[in-house]
Amino acid sequence: MKVGVLGGGQLGRMLALAGYPLGVHVRCLDALTDAPAGALCELVVGDYADAVTLARFAEGVAVITYEFENVPVTTARQLAEFCPVYPPPLALEKAQDRLVEKSFLRELAIPTPPFLAVESRADLDEALTQIGLPAVLKTRRLGYDGKGQAVLRQPQDRETAWASLQGSPLILEGWVNFDRELSLLAVRSTTGEIAFYPLVANEHRDGILRISRAPAPNLTPALQALAEAYAQRILDALQYVGVLAIEFFQVGQMLLANEMAPRVHNSGHWTIEGAVTSQFANHLCAILGLPLGDTAAIGQSVMLNLIGTLPDRVAVLAVPGAHLHLYDKAPRPGRKLGHITLRADEAQTLEARLVQLQKLIDPSAPA
Ligand code: AMP
Repeated sequence: MKVGVLGGGQLGRMLALAGYPLGVHVRCLDALTDAPAGALCELVVGDYADAVTLARFAEGVAVITYEFENVPVTTARQLAEFCPVYPPPLALEKAQDRLVEKSFLRELAIPTPPFLAVESRADLDEALTQIGLPAVLKTRRLGYDGKGQAVLRQPQDRETAWASLQGSPLILEGWVNFDRELSLLAVRSTTGEIAFYPLVANEHRDGILRISRAPAPNLTPALQALAEAYAQRILDALQYVGVLAIEFFQVGQMLLANEMAPRVHNSGHWTIEGAVTSQFANHLCAILGLPLGDTAAIGQSVMLNLIGTLPDRVAVLAVPGAHLHLYDKAPRPGRKLGHITLRADEAQTLEARLVQLQKLIDPSAPA
């Protein structure tokens, strides 16, 4: 059985790896000849807008999915003429534009940070009057890992923020003084079966995810239930199929949704070793209509992203419970090159080993 994946990055690579034991083969479409998934799957190199490439990519695959959310919606819809495309292209449409996304969440009565559309300098002044400072100005489309964003702390910041982002449709959001960032991974199969992973606590630096702790420390059943109830509304509204990630800001016992990703997600990498069934296996099961696997966590996990440079492989593997994943990418500042999942049965053991690992990843990190 063959699954088509739009995109050949590390997520495509991990989908291909999860497919092997299930007898599922992956064919990726990517613009790059050296896409990280290429070594592990059949790689079609070409343009998403090229009809001939799309027909070649779609030939003989049972279902098509994607591993990044900036796939053109027109491409996803075009491919739906060949075979089912999951998650539904409507989910892509909702997730690609921050204004559309937050408006959609608001329609579903899911709390979000305050937001307003900004199309002109006058709009920015008006939005700032309504939302107040601090605030964050973001491009509506194509922003990721903190790119296309400017934080405004004082009135004079509006000049630099506007100068750096004008020209693209924008959104101004109120700055949320959150207690922590959490994400939820939900999965829904073509059969309607649904499962949720435990909430995960995420730490970002420079807009890039650095660490996920799973399950989130001090996770209460009430908070998990709240996140699941919000996710359920999104799944239902979109007739969703596949893994869906939702990122939240926690403020007290409230959850504000920041964004959603209609795909497997970086904050779910821990599930490979830290859950009974990985997000990648469950995504494949969901889109193929196979029974979903158990989403329960096995003990405690911490996932650390390896960004820009790689630590010594021998030293990492010598830490008990450390699982190293390298993506076969050339090192470059700010680039996600791999991750480590550290798993242990007890929180105390995990913390001690985490200190060891963090020193290997960033020798200047405080002990
Ligand atoms: P995003 O691209 O929207 O996921 O933003 C990247 C990171 O910037 C988030 O994970 C937060 O750490 C931070 N951030 C984004 N929007 C806000 C906001 N409205 N309030 C506070 N922090 C934010």
